Amino acid sequence: MIDFKENIEKLYSKMDRCSICPRKCGADRSSGQKGICETADKIFVASSSVHAGEEPPISATRGSGAIFFSNCTLNCVFCQNYPISQLSNGKKVSLEDLVDMMLNLQNRGVHNINFVTPTHYSPQIAKSAYIARKKGLRVPILYNCSGYEDIETLKLLEGTVDIYLPDIKYSDDETAFKYSGVKNYVEVNRAALKEMKKQVGNLTVDDEGTAQKGVIVRHLVLPGNIENTKKALEFIAKELSENTFVSLMAQYHTAHKSNNFKELSRSLTKEEYEEAVSYLELLNLENGWVQSLQ
Ligand code: SF4
Repeated sequence: MIDFKENIEKLYSKMDRCSICPRKCGADRSSGQKGICETADKIFVASSSVHAGEEPPISATRGSGAIFFSNCTLNCVFCQNYPISQLSNGKKVSLEDLVDMMLNLQNRGVHNINFVTPTHYSPQIAKSAYIARKKGLRVPILYNCSGYEDIETLKLLEGTVDIYLPDIKYSDDETAFKYSGVKNYVEVNRAALKEMKKQVGNLTVDDEGTAQKGVIVRHLVLPGNIENTKKALEFIAKELSENTFVSLMAQYHTAHKSNNFKELSRSLTKEEYEEAVSYLELLNLENGWVQSLQ
């Protein structure tokens, strides 16, 4: 039996010397101090809208209710949302506003509430979701994250999150540090994916094919980094399971600081993406989605 109130309290207490994410930078966010993620105790949201562009079971026919949070625990040089994640675009909202956003999105018919870049706001998400459920929120809650997650934080989100949509960005720490500024991504990310799978299992859908519960793992294929992709897919196939739903993304484009890195300063080639798709097939990862490279 999950004690949601106790878990929410524990999550909030993790903000005193912040250990919400694996950076564990120790900022006293509860007293208004900002951590490495540029976030203190107040909630900043960039947008709340119906999103049609997610994976088919997520957006389905009526869209996903996406709430984009400002700032991020990672500093990815190629971030396509960098004005929001790195430049803090967004406006301050209260916890009550967050609850209202969720209920309003549900009233607009969305299939789920999709918290985008949620990690640093885990306490507020757990609390607002708890209140929203009491007020009639019925749709699944989706945690759309970088995959760089603290296990203790994830355990405290058990029962709050129905669908995890994490990235597996890297399969070696050197690359993770070079592009995202974190030192221990691989071990942390892999443990986080296993914890998510343990909590919610493989993706399950309703009669109409709409996601209800489970994990979908996303991987963005980066130009000049095909070995990174192959090792990431190997981990999924061998250590999560061959039936894991994988979203293999081809939508890389140069953004933010990517031009500082020669290999990232161009588009992904058709050949690179096809090699990634072939490897996905070789590993028998048959569940999920690939994209067409324009
Ligand atoms: S969530 Fe932000 S403040 Fe907390 S440990 Fe991570 S980077 Fe630091």
